[in-house]
Amino acid sequence: MVKLLTSPSGKRLITYSYRGLRSFNKHQPRPKMALDHYTFGPHKIRSKEVFYSTHLSFAMVNLRPVLPGHVLICPRREVKRFADLTADEISDLWLTAQKVGSGLECHHKASSLTFTIQDGPQAGQTVPHVHIHILPRKVGDFEKNDEIYDAIDASEKELKKKLDLDEERKDRSPEEMAQEADEYKVLFS
Ligand code: AMP
Repeated sequence: MVKLLTSPSGKRLITYSYRGLRSFNKHQPRPKMALDHYTFGPHKIRSKEVFYSTHLSFAMVNLRPVLPGHVLICPRREVKRFADLTADEISDLWLTAQKVGSGLECHHKASSLTFTIQDGPQAGQTVPHVHIHILPRKVGDFEKNDEIYDAIDASEKELKKKLDLDEERKDRSPEEMAQEADEYKVLFS
């Protein structure tokens, strides 16, 4: 049940008495939503695979990382193209990417970062939900630096032929992904 009350100072208070939801007024910060899963295009992402979130964005481990620490930052709202994001979502997405990138660069003892967005199918986007790829980079991780874009972009078959990365690109188990997310959660708590 929802009750509308007025405080002595005249502020409107909304009280929810159903199942113990706490009362709050619109001037208090919104409580963080605890989700049991997130949405990434057509995919359901278990909250165990999400290691950091804000009210507009979330950071998750990758099913098929190209390098150790290759993660994805997504808006919570399911939006296909970068142009569809609001200014607040863009700002929050990149602030999240900055924080996560710095933490993972240090954690993986890397010395640089690749941030990339494939915006639309002709740019190589395979999941129709905006996401920033973050990849911690080290000296010599790719023979030619820009091959990393091929690695992100190419199909399994092309990858195997061109870069011989088949080992790293195999889908990982849910347990392995949850374990990696746990390792990162402590960095951003
Ligand atoms: P893009 O080709 O730029 O759209 O990138 C899609 C990314 O999403 C790739 O790095 C995939 O490995 C990753 N990916 C696809 N499905 C999942 C999933 N269910 N969970 C986590 N990562 C995923």
